[in-house]
Amino acid sequence: MAYGDVDVLRNVSLTVAPGTTTCIIGPSGSGKSTLLRGVNRLHEPKSGDVLLAGESALQVKPDILRARIGMVFQHFNLFPDHTALDNVALALWSVKGTSKAEARERARRRLAEVGLAERADHRPRDLSGGQQQRVAIARALAMEPEVMLFDEATSALDPELVKGVLNLMAGLGRRGMTMLVVTHEMNFARKVADQVVFMDEGEVVEMGPPTELFDNPRSERLQRFLSEVL
Ligand code: ATP
Ligand code: MG
Repeated sequence: MAYGDVDVLRNVSLTVAPGTTTCIIGPSGSGKSTLLRGVNRLHEPKSGDVLLAGESALQVKPDILRARIGMVFQHFNLFPDHTALDNVALALWSVKGTSKAEARERARRRLAEVGLAERADHRPRDLSGGQQQRVAIARALAMEPEVMLFDEATSALDPELVKGVLNLMAGLGRRGMTMLVVTHEMNFARKVADQVVFMDEGEVVEMGPPTELFDNPRSERLQRFLSEVL
């Protein structure tokens, strides 16, 4: 994958089994966000492919692809002028063609699932960061995605709000959601991930179960990274 002529990712290949959680860790600039953005085509790969249940993501229309692969960002990216409810409902009627009444009904249920039933009529600015992030998660879930991508979903949150969002993510994983999670939360990766991927300088350097990577890092690069973050 490249920006202009600059190759950012090289020979990155990974498989995510249905119903599993993969955490991607690595230093700043190592290509973690670029990888996630390539998966749902916010960034078009120059070469290579993404297979979703055997089907090439490059053959799926971007709108449809992004409904099948939900993404949650560090900075929530909610529509500021819409209520929490409409933030969740909007894509249902604009992308999936659900009627407005049905979309709002489903959105209400999703907000309840993330503990925000009481906040449905608030606008983003009247919600805490943690609540805004729950709305963003509910919005992605409303599309009934096959996969969820999280790019440092808790990095912009005040420390006391981080745990609630991580617990919500862990719960999704337990209920069988397939997730790719870029995170700096090493405890989350250790506890929740089925597979951990360590990236450095645009490459996957090590990949395996969390106990293997955290307790027995083989490469000097991962050893150095862990000694800096743990
Ligand atoms: P961080 O932990 O800081 O979020 P990251 O691992 O997500 O880092 P990326 O954002 O994927 O890293 O960036 C990988 C490389 O691509 C970096 O060298 C970055 O400077 C470069 N890059 C990212 N976005 C662009 C862009 N839009 N145009 C050009 N280069 C970019
Ligand atoms: Mg990033």
